[in-house]
Amino acid sequence: MTSPDSDAPTSASDPLVIRSLDFMGGMAEIDGWRPDAVLPEIAFAGRSNVGKSSLLNKLVRRKAFARVSKTPGRTREINFFRVNNEFVFADLPGYGYAKISRERSSAWGPMIESYLRRSPTLRGVVQLLDVRHDPTDDDRTMLDFLADVGVPTLFVVTKTDKLSKGAVSGRILELGKQLDVPEEQFIAFSATTGAGRDELAEAIVGLLGTDPSADSNAEEHGE
Ligand code: GDP
Repeated sequence: MTSPDSDAPTSASDPLVIRSLDFMGGMAEIDGWRPDAVLPEIAFAGRSNVGKSSLLNKLVRRKAFARVSKTPGRTREINFFRVNNEFVFADLPGYGYAKISRERSSAWGPMIESYLRRSPTLRGVVQLLDVRHDPTDDDRTMLDFLADVGVPTLFVVTKTDKLSKGAVSGRILELGKQLDVPEEQFIAFSATTGAGRDELAEAIVGLLGTDPSADSNAEEHGE
């Protein structure tokens, strides 16, 4: 997976240069295996078809990085990747796909809850939304989980190449209103053009640099 099938040369100004990528394994069931929570972690969430695999491939500059999450038997798993031996990306299963059985889709919420509660080193979640669509009930359920856990969330609107620049800004305003999220918290992204890749990489690096165990809350609680 570390083979140099890079789709763009890395530049000195790249906020996130990928030196190594290793698939660690998948969490397949509630309270099932997950890697020891040692390294800081970033999770990626969104409904099926939102463009999550395409975004991950663009982010790490590998054409087929996220393919593992699409292989039969792994699409409902939470798949973990060690990046640069420094941090972990957790690819959460896409939700809201009509074709999966009712039983499997009802397991999604408890899976995500189980994951979120067992991830003490989780530094942030990248929540994807298709720029053309309003948030679904499943999106709102996901956001409720995140609010419960209190994890910082980056909102990425995907497939922005499908709209004009002005229309993208309008959609971000609208989505921000609907979700009660300030528009500065949104990143406009396109896997087709690469727009937003460096901005997202920089935001992720920013989240990874924060250490919640060293924040003022710990002091307030006398720890
Ligand atoms: P996932 O199910 O969330 O992993 O979504 P995929 O990455 O597999 O993308 C779903 C579909 O949307 C595919 O047909 C992609 O080619 C397409 N897609 C993903 N990202 C973009 C984008 O930025 N622009 C355009 N035009 N299409 C995209």
